[in-house]
Amino acid sequence: MFMQTHDDMAVVTTKEALQRYLSLKEDEIAFHENWNCSLPLKIPTYFLSLINPEDPDDPLRRQVVPTRYEQIPESKGTIDPLEEVRYSVTERLIHRYKNRVAFLTTDICPMYCRHCFRRRFTGTFQGPASEEQVNEAATYVANHKEILEILFTGGDVLTLSDTRLESMIQAFRSKRPDLVIRICSRIPASYPMRITDSLITMLKQFSSAPFYLMCQFNHPRELTQQAIVAVDRFVEAGIPAMNQTVLLRGVNDDADVLVELCNRLVSHRIKPYYLFQGDLVEGTAHFRVPIQKGLLLEEQLRQRLSGLAMPVYAIDLPAGGGKVPLGRSYLLGKDEQGAWMFQNAEGVIRTYPDPISEEQSDQEHLE
Ligand SMILES: *Cc1c(COP(=O)(O)O)cnc(C)c1O
Ligand code: SF4
Repeated sequence: MFMQTHDDMAVVTTKEALQRYLSLKEDEIAFHENWNCSLPLKIPTYFLSLINPEDPDDPLRRQVVPTRYEQIPESKGTIDPLEEVRYSVTERLIHRYKNRVAFLTTDICPMYCRHCFRRRFTGTFQGPASEEQVNEAATYVANHKEILEILFTGGDVLTLSDTRLESMIQAFRSKRPDLVIRICSRIPASYPMRITDSLITMLKQFSSAPFYLMCQFNHPRELTQQAIVAVDRFVEAGIPAMNQTVLLRGVNDDADVLVELCNRLVSHRIKPYYLFQGDLVEGTAHFRVPIQKGLLLEEQLRQRLSGLAMPVYAIDLPAGGGKVPLGRSYLLGKDEQGAWMFQNAEGVIRTYPDPISEEQSDQEHLE
């Protein structure tokens, strides 16, 4: 839409380079004067070309151009609110839920999102997991048969070369052919040209269990033709695509924007899976939406979207409390007769009695 000519492969990593694309605002310049932020600046020119340079509050710009608000110390924010370090069972494997694990494949991303919740790790120049770290994690998963799914996350797993990714998959699947692998990547939105036929051909060799693609599209304008083609390649190869949106102030905290995003995702065979409340990560306070507003949005979405298009609004609780769904309750409680009372989306009350046991039913029949 705002296409300037750009080199597909180019990435902007300095203030000076960024200023060739955008005229920076005061808050954006101030970030560079007081560098105390661990998350580097990195924006592919592809993504920059989607930003409207005329709009200082462009929702795509807000996600990638750093501001001084990231540097404001916050008493309630922490660097690891999900306590992923505490739940780590090997150097890069997080075992928080009994039947699934998250593996930090690399800390690198093609684009650093300013709202990133894994700032303790993302962009810290540690690089891809070593062979030893991969084998250690694979052995753990092999010894814990209760683990059914692994999330390949990071950073962005699709920054790995095809060869490295192939050997990583091989390491896990050779020990656990049944292991479901979730490829968690923002690359379809940030750098879709990475999704090549050879990547897909490589993945297709591993047919003993499914892959799922977990994308992160936060705004409908990220769903470009290139992004759609990238996701299509997975779906055509039998890899279902899901989307996890982060609810972000000034980006998508608006019912119309979310409705458009979710409907367009569905029309391109991407299932809206989660809508995440922002985690209490230091440096991201300016992105957080009050829960009251989030609940209101959830209620509006529930009315305007099909069940298929509706994501689950969820919060990952601080102090490692885990994910819980958020939403208004349609269940009010029980009435005097002991029947469940509901209030539907239009505000109408209906009751639903529980089934009575067979003995009770016989008795009623005899009376
Ligand atoms: C979110 C998360 C998962 C996956 O949870 P789902 O609700 O199944 O999507 C697994 N492990 C960790 C550490 C997570 O944060
Ligand atoms: S792509 Fe994911 S891991 Fe990377 S910066 Fe964005 S949110 Fe963080």
